[in-house]
Amino acid sequence: MSKEKRNHLLIDIDSKIPNLALMKISSWAKARGDHVDFQEATVEPDEVWVSCVFSWHKQDALGVGTFYQNSANVHFGGTGFDWGMPRTQRIELPQEIENCSPDYKLYEDDRALGFCQRGCNRKCQFCDVWKKEGTIKENEYHRIIDWVPDWASKVLLLDNDMALYENWKHDQILTDIIESKRKLCITQGYDARCVTKERAKLLAENKPWDLDFKNRRIYTAWDYLGIEPYVRRAIEILLDAGFKGKEIYCYMICGFNTTHEEDVYRFDVLRSYGVYPYIMPFNKRTDDKWLNHFTRFVNRGYSRFIPREEYKAGVLRLQQQQISTHKSLEQMRLLEN
Ligand code: SF4
Repeated sequence: MSKEKRNHLLIDIDSKIPNLALMKISSWAKARGDHVDFQEATVEPDEVWVSCVFSWHKQDALGVGTFYQNSANVHFGGTGFDWGMPRTQRIELPQEIENCSPDYKLYEDDRALGFCQRGCNRKCQFCDVWKKEGTIKENEYHRIIDWVPDWASKVLLLDNDMALYENWKHDQILTDIIESKRKLCITQGYDARCVTKERAKLLAENKPWDLDFKNRRIYTAWDYLGIEPYVRRAIEILLDAGFKGKEIYCYMICGFNTTHEEDVYRFDVLRSYGVYPYIMPFNKRTDDKWLNHFTRFVNRGYSRFIPREEYKAGVLRLQQQQISTHKSLEQMRLLEN
């Protein structure tokens, strides 16, 4: 980019938490002495940076790009562009921008966020992280105390799978948080297969928080039936270490390679421990009516009002096109309205 002053417009299409890439672009641009607008242009932009996290919002992001394409350089980024086509306009941030500290003023948010280390050693077929970032050892490790600003007491850790780290590094992250009296949210979840008694004890010493830092919460996942023994073992160890069932949120990807019966089974097992399941329909698909209902039932908390056995009968009947007569589903509709 030329040295002359530029006007930048940063657009966050759908982030649920402050967007790290946009905050870094903002820092970099301000350090150049450039003008930076966020979400709305106050001056004619020369450079438009559009970030889209979810692939189902990609068309919206492309629409914004189309609006500016004749008058500005448009840059697309974010995981929303990782799936499907077109990927041609997606950019990787140059190292010069990656190395910048985030401009937290952009969101006026009191949560610090970032990575101790990127990458992942697993190769889940529904995920692109391992393709984009490589294995953990291919990425550099940075201690919490090296990147969290002094003012921040809340830390959103974005690492893909910190539970896969060697014990010294895993423990150092948690100990740095404990010793600096900060609160931690492990946003990408804690791998159930890596829970040990020692790790659970350290996690329970300063329990992680949810994204808003309102409730203690540890996120984990149960994506396919084959890891059931690990999931059960992890939950039992966490409960023994002092976690309450309601403090454990377990993501379940559905509609990828599991059957409806397996989805209900996973739900039942998790609820039997008092753990909260959360359904992630694969790629936010909506073409499976049963899954749409099941997702609503679980994610909107209907399971607290409707006995699961009753609901299970209901959803299985739904498969047989008998939706309208079932009492549970009627109750669901009433709750929805
Ligand atoms: S463990 Fe998580 S980050 Fe790693 S490949 Fe699987 S889903 Fe992606």
